[in-house]
Amino acid sequence: MFRIGIGSFSHETHTFLDKLTTIEDFETSGVAYGDDLIEKNRGVRNYVCGFITGLERHGASMVGSVGAGTGVFGWVTGDAFDKYANALADGFRDAGKLDGVLLALHGGMAVREYPKPEAEIVRRVRAVVGDIPIFVTLDLHANEDQELTDVADGVFACMEFPHTDTMETGLAAAECMIATLKGEFKPTMAIQKPGIISPAVRQWTKAAPMTVFRSRADEWRLRDKDVHYVSIMPGFPYADVPDAGASVIVLTNNNKLLAETVARDISALMWELRETLAHKKVLNAAEAADKAIDLVSKGIRPVVLGDGSDRTGDNTLVMRELLNRGARNVGLATMHDRDAVNKLEQAGLGAKVSLALGGWGQASGEPLAVTGTVAWLGDGDYIATGPMGTGGKNLCGPSAVLDLGNGNQIIVTSFNHQVRDDAGFRHFGVDFDKLDIMVLRSRVHFRAYYETIAGEILEVEAPGMGPVDLSVLDYKYIPADAFPIGRNWRK
Ligand SMILES: [Zn+2]
Repeated sequence: MFRIGIGSFSHETHTFLDKLTTIEDFETSGVAYGDDLIEKNRGVRNYVCGFITGLERHGASMVGSVGAGTGVFGWVTGDAFDKYANALADGFRDAGKLDGVLLALHGGMAVREYPKPEAEIVRRVRAVVGDIPIFVTLDLHANEDQELTDVADGVFACMEFPHTDTMETGLAAAECMIATLKGEFKPTMAIQKPGIISPAVRQWTKAAPMTVFRSRADEWRLRDKDVHYVSIMPGFPYADVPDAGASVIVLTNNNKLLAETVARDISALMWELRETLAHKKVLNAAEAADKAIDLVSKGIRPVVLGDGSDRTGDNTLVMRELLNRGARNVGLATMHDRDAVNKLEQAGLGAKVSLALGGWGQASGEPLAVTGTVAWLGDGDYIATGPMGTGGKNLCGPSAVLDLGNGNQIIVTSFNHQVRDDAGFRHFGVDFDKLDIMVLRSRVHFRAYYETIAGEILEVEAPGMGPVDLSVLDYKYIPADAFPIGRNWRK
């Protein structure tokens, strides 16, 4: 019986946000150790659950080390990185003899002290477990280069954005691990970087050009059974790191030349379609408000506004434009403002309150002055019910709903939160079915659920710290040749 070590240390780091990602942030989100890691993820649609499901299917035993992850903030501090990377390695050391290791990483972590953090994590684990297979799962927003494929034996990135297939990704890694340990498979990888940094809204995998890249990968898999897994990662654009940008990692059964050929082919295809992938046009807040109100007047509802540019959860620009135009039945989920939650709690349920909401972030607009009634107070944490991360817990902390009249409601939370399903409204007592316009802080993840109920979806750039036009951010460390914002393209 095979004995497999399991761990997770995952973060998507937005290096342009001032607030650092600290030990406190990881601890607040909840760090799991040992068997807790396994119990906590059982039945949740995520990578670790995929590991567990695959290993149990083959009667393998498993040992949990550490599971750490938290919300999107600025650079991860060196001490936070050391703490969890070392704990991960220590957990595997204490586990005794292992046959293989499965790690759920993200690929978008950024640490000033370690330019390639995921490779560093694998190196620290390798130093403890020695020469056994280490397989890594990654988010589609991973920024990686050859340093990772040099130290890991297998890499499996999720294929969907919204990330609805993370469990299947974990499962694929676990299945391949068993085949490798049985001697039926010899993992052999190649990586290519086409040199493109693209905004997140263009990386939706149900639309071109991402569908085109996946089709090419499927063609290769049909043509040659040794093409086992193709990771196509457009990367996380808001990280100023030396391995920023898209990458393709191809995993074959013992065929280096084939891995290289396929990786080069898909990378070249991405380069051909680079203009589409990096395309910049979306609606601004005023245009989106006009269009949303017009659509509702024609009976098209609900209109869902994905404010992709908001990365701190406190942007006021879209809501302000809607209110200025007298829009009705608007639900905003969510406004990240802990101070406002405190004020609404002090006022109490049913109280009439005037206050300024949000607008404290680096590019979030002015605080929004509103008057309304406190319609809901309570614990904002809720379980995801939509197609993404089903069964997982969303952390919002103490929260409130401010009813502005005319059916307009703002959900105010203590933590930044990206709503991806209707539970993100219903949990807070908002009558979801009555909303004509929904304002969300999301680029693509919301589509997995909202595509099924929306009259129309509008992509909005408020603007904020997650712009479609990346040239407004001051990058220093990205590769000079990365299209379209590397030094060589700026002139
Ligand atoms: Zn992602």
